[in-house]
Amino acid sequence: MSAPADTRSDAASAVHDLVLTGGRVLDPANGIDGRYDVAVTDGRISAVAPSIEGPATERIDCTGRLVLPGLVEGHTHIFEHVSKVGANPVEAHLRRGVVAAADAGTAGASTFAAFKKFVVEPSGMRILSFLNVSVLGLIDFRFGELLNPDTLVAEDALQVAEENPEIVKGFKIRLSEDVVPSDQWRTLLEKSLAIGEQAGLPLMVHIGETPEPLTEVLPYLRPGDIIAHCYTGKPYNILVDGKVQPAVAEARARGVLFDSAHGKSNLSFDVARPAIAEGFLPDIASSDTSGRNWRGPVFDLLTSLSKLVALGAPLPEIIKRATIDPARLLGIADEGYGALTVGNPAHVTVVEEVGEQLLPDAAGNSIVAPRYEPVTVLHAGAPVDIVPWRGLGA
Ligand SMILES: [Zn+2]
Repeated sequence: MSAPADTRSDAASAVHDLVLTGGRVLDPANGIDGRYDVAVTDGRISAVAPSIEGPATERIDCTGRLVLPGLVEGHTHIFEHVSKVGANPVEAHLRRGVVAAADAGTAGASTFAAFKKFVVEPSGMRILSFLNVSVLGLIDFRFGELLNPDTLVAEDALQVAEENPEIVKGFKIRLSEDVVPSDQWRTLLEKSLAIGEQAGLPLMVHIGETPEPLTEVLPYLRPGDIIAHCYTGKPYNILVDGKVQPAVAEARARGVLFDSAHGKSNLSFDVARPAIAEGFLPDIASSDTSGRNWRGPVFDLLTSLSKLVALGAPLPEIIKRATIDPARLLGIADEGYGALTVGNPAHVTVVEEVGEQLLPDAAGNSIVAPRYEPVTVLHAGAPVDIVPWRGLGA
């Protein structure tokens, strides 16, 4: 009896909890795109190899599916119950394959404590913040948070950032005409940049209906600062005469980042298509999900990504921009986010392509796009319940 018992004991020491077999592993951080098995043990990635034999508590056949690092959402609005635009982070993101998400300015310094206590801590996912430079945050779209410029209180923003370095990863200003007094946008932008400078964090700048053209805005931004809504069809967008304007290319060349941030009204296929054809991909591929759009036209991050792929962006490039790139930007790559690296916590999203579907942009145009459906999601090795796609009138 002893020999079999010993054999089993030896084998047990190498038993994987879970092996995801036969999928197309797309892990840009590790330069992997091909058919691999991925093993998970004790909540961590224990092996990535063409074939993982040997004992495993569970095997999931991923043949024909994409095995991705858990998706990282670089721009969303998830301050539910406090903001009128807040979506539920678990329903809108975690249960749709997104394991980490950055709230883009829904919380400001005066509401951050509630955001941390009621959203970040109970979520079961990794939530970050681009803290709104207005202490009010984005509570109600009808009342721009900087129409009273006194709500920009640098000391408050800096204090919250200093006390919450694990959550606050940057600052956010919405630079639209209905948010900032048009004669004060330069002052408010300069103050916001100074806050970022002092904290050593980037500033995310929301464009679309800015008071003046992008050529006036872009020179202010530093390497690492972010333009959100790079494919907006609103006035003063990135195109001039159907081409990406030189000022945008120059800003990118010196390190300014561009975030796709679909949103309710900021993805125009007529802007994104020619920009992508020129090779102008977003640095961050994000959804800008909110309570106003998660039942359309955005639905979720995977649906937003599928539109970019349908517009001509290569899938591996888009996955990179929704995994390791935002993970690095948000400073969470060393927590295992954005990559399937052996030894790191297992954040995994397995996706099935379920045919094609007709999807809208924000201007009412449609495109035939692949439908990506999450089928297996792990956050730190723990399986997540999937919620069905909300599109097509579901
Ligand atoms: Zn937004």
